[in-house]
Amino acid sequence: LAGFMAALIVSCSPADHTKVIDSTEKKVEELLSKMTLDEKIGQLNQYTSSWEMTGPVPEGKDQQDQLEMIKSGLVGSMLNVTGAEATRKAQTLAVENSRLGIPMIFGYDVVHGYKTMLPIPLAAASSWNPEVARQSCEVAAREAAASGIHWTFAPMIDIARDARWGRVMEGAGEDPYLGSIMAAAQVKGFQGDSLNSINTVAACAKHFAAYGFAEAGRDYNTVEITEHTLRNTVLPPFKAAVDAGVSTIMNSFNIIGGIPSTSNHHLLRDILKGEWQFDGFVISDWNSIGEIRNHGVASTKKEAAYLAINAGTDMDMEGDCYVFNLKQLVEEGKVSEATIDDAVRRVLKIKYELGLFDDPYKYCNEENEKVQLSQEHLDIARDLARKSVVLLKNNNQILPLQKDQQKIGVIGALANDKDSPLGSWRAQAVTGSAVSLLEGINNVVKNKGMVKYAQGPEFVTNTPKFTEELQFNESDLSGIKEAVKLAKKVDVVVMALGENCFQAGEGRSQTNIEIKGVQQQLFDAIYAVNKNIVVVLMNGRPVVLNNIAQQAQAIVETWHLGSEAGNAIADVLFGDYNPSGKLPVSFPRSVGQCPIYYNQFSTGRSANTDNNVFWSHYTDEAKTPLYPFGYGLSYTSFEYSNIELSSNELFSEGSIEVSATISNTGKFAGKETVQLYVQDLFGSIARPIKELKGFQQIELTPGESKKVTFKISKQDLTYYTAQGKWDVEPGDFKVWIGTNSQEGLEGNFTLN
Ligand code: BGC
Repeated sequence: LAGFMAALIVSCSPADHTKVIDSTEKKVEELLSKMTLDEKIGQLNQYTSSWEMTGPVPEGKDQQDQLEMIKSGLVGSMLNVTGAEATRKAQTLAVENSRLGIPMIFGYDVVHGYKTMLPIPLAAASSWNPEVARQSCEVAAREAAASGIHWTFAPMIDIARDARWGRVMEGAGEDPYLGSIMAAAQVKGFQGDSLNSINTVAACAKHFAAYGFAEAGRDYNTVEITEHTLRNTVLPPFKAAVDAGVSTIMNSFNIIGGIPSTSNHHLLRDILKGEWQFDGFVISDWNSIGEIRNHGVASTKKEAAYLAINAGTDMDMEGDCYVFNLKQLVEEGKVSEATIDDAVRRVLKIKYELGLFDDPYKYCNEENEKVQLSQEHLDIARDLARKSVVLLKNNNQILPLQKDQQKIGVIGALANDKDSPLGSWRAQAVTGSAVSLLEGINNVVKNKGMVKYAQGPEFVTNTPKFTEELQFNESDLSGIKEAVKLAKKVDVVVMALGENCFQAGEGRSQTNIEIKGVQQQLFDAIYAVNKNIVVVLMNGRPVVLNNIAQQAQAIVETWHLGSEAGNAIADVLFGDYNPSGKLPVSFPRSVGQCPIYYNQFSTGRSANTDNNVFWSHYTDEAKTPLYPFGYGLSYTSFEYSNIELSSNELFSEGSIEVSATISNTGKFAGKETVQLYVQDLFGSIARPIKELKGFQQIELTPGESKKVTFKISKQDLTYYTAQGKWDVEPGDFKVWIGTNSQEGLEGNFTLN
C-alpha cells in the first residue's frame, strides 16, 4: 500500500494519472475479493458518534453495540466525530480490531467553515465571484482536515426560489447557471487537485434532488416537479459538480412525484450513474432510507433497504437499514451481490483516493489543528465577507460614512450580536466568536466619542437550539426609549435588522418573512426622530422589508458573514471597500409573492400578443420583486451603452459575439458584474422569459470605459426539450447585457 500511495503523491503526467486510476481499481478489486458479505455491507453503514470518543464509553446497549460493530468491521463511516484526538481513537477501533483493518471515513457538515466561519454560501454567491466560493471551501477544508475530517456534507447546491424555506442560506440562490458555476467552484475548493492531501476533504453535493422545491417552502415537504424543470433548473448544478469531480452525492429527504429521492431509480441509476457516469458514491440523508416508511412507500426497514440499494443509494446514514437487512435480502435473491459489490467499490475507491489505506490517521494531528482560526484564515474570511455584501439602496450618497466626522448611533440587538453573524451550520465555531458590527465600527473610528450604541429591545427571547423553535418578542418595547434618545443626538443611525442565525437553516421554514419581533416598531420609532438611517441587514434568506425599503436612506445586505462580519461590514460602510455584490435571489415585496424568481416561464394572459407583455398578476401587489436577481449597487455609478452583435445570425457550428461598453460615471473606483441574459422566444416547450448565460466582473476607475464581450455558441442555448434530450431548436432569440436581470441593453439574433 505504501508503494501505491507514493505513486499518488508524486505529481502526475496524464499517462501516470491513468496508471494511478488503474492501480486504485486494482487495489479495490483485490480488497473486495477478500471481503465477506458482512464486511461488504459494513462498508455501506454510517453511524453518528453517539458518545464522546475522548472519554470512556458510557454504559448502555447502543454505545456498546456500536463499539463492537466498529471493531467487527460493520461500520464503514462515522459522522460528527470531532477533533483530532477523538477521530484517532475511533479510527483505532476500526483499523486495529477489524479483520481487514479497513479505515473508516469521517464525515461532517463543514458548510461554510470549521472554526473560522466564512460567509454563508448564499452570501458567497452574492459575490458573483466563483473564486470567493472556492477560497471559502478551501479554508474550511484545511481546518476540517486538520481535525481528522475526511469528508464534508457540502456543498448544498439546491436551487431555491421560495424565501420561506430556511435552507436558502445554504445554497447559491435561484438560478441554475450561477448555481452551476458556484457548485463547481465549491467542489474545487473542498477537493483541490487531489483528495490525498492534508488540505482537502471529499465533497458531497446535496440534496439529490429538488429538495429546494418543497411545496410552499416548508422543509421536507412534498415536491411535484416536471421532468423539464428538473432537468433544466434543478439538475444543472449537480451535473456541474459531477463534472468537477465531486466524490459523493447525498439524497434528499423529499419525494418527487410520489417516489422518495432515496429510492429513486430514475434519479440515481438512470441519470446520475447512467447518463452522467458518476463514479463516486451516494449517501442517504440522515435516516432517509428509514424514512421511506414515513412516505408510505415501504412498510419495514428491510423493504426500505431493498428499494434504496437497488435504486442506487450506496451508504446508509444513521438508518440501520442496510447493516441489519442487506444480507438477508441477498440470501433471498432480492438484492444481487453484484449490486452490493458496486456500492462497496465506490466507497473503497474514495477511501483509496483519500490515502486512508496508506495512513488512516494522516490528518489527525493537534499540530495541524493550529491552522484553525489562524490570522491568515481570518484575513481571508474578512476579504471574502466584504466581497459578499450587496448594497441595495444608497439615497443621497449617505454612504460611505465619514470616519471621525459624523456622530454615529449604532442601534439594534443584531449590531452587538457576536453569534448570529456566524450563521447556521457553524461546525466547530466557538459560540459568540464573531466580530460584531459594533466592534467592527469601533475598530475603525478612532474618536470614540463619535460612536454610541443603544440596543433597543431584544427581538428573540430564548436561546435557540436546533430542536427548539425561536420565541420572538412581540410586545416588550421597553428598550425603544433609550434608542430614540440616542437617535435624536446623532448625525446618522446605523441600524442592524434581520434574522437571528437560527431563524434560517434546516427545519427553519417560516410563513412570515418580515423582520420579526419588535424590530419593525424599533425602526418606526427611530425614523420618527431621525431620517438618516442606514439599515444593515443580517439574514439567512430574503426578507420582506415593507416601509423600511422606502424609508431607510441606505440598505446594506450582509447576510451572515462569518467570523469577521463586523470588520467586513465596517470596511464597506466607511468606503474602504466599495460594495460589489449582486443578489443571487429575488427579494419579494410580500410573502404572498413567494416563490418568486426572474427566470419564470413565458406565460399568463398577454395584454398585447405582439410584445410579450404578460398579465399574470395579483390584484393587491406588483408582480415585480422589490429587488431583482442580479441587483446590487456600488458607491460609483455605471452606464451601459452600445450593445453590438457580431452577427444577427448564429449558424449551428459557429458563435457570435455580443458586446457593450460600460463606463464608470461616478466618483469612486468600482467593480461591476456585467450580466448576459437570453430569451429563446419559441421552443417545443415554454421557455423562460430570461436566462442568465454569462457574467464578467470588471474594475473601472472614475471616467474609465471598457468594452465587455461575450461569446454565444449553440452549446450555450441547449436545453432539455419536449423530445426529452439536450438540444437546441432553431429560432429567434433576444439577448441583453445588463446590470441586473431587469435592466439591460437589448439585441436579437436568429439561430439557424
Ligand atoms: C441534513 C443534511 C446533513 C445531515 C447530516 C440532515 O438532516 O439534511 O444536509 O448533511 O443531516 O448532518
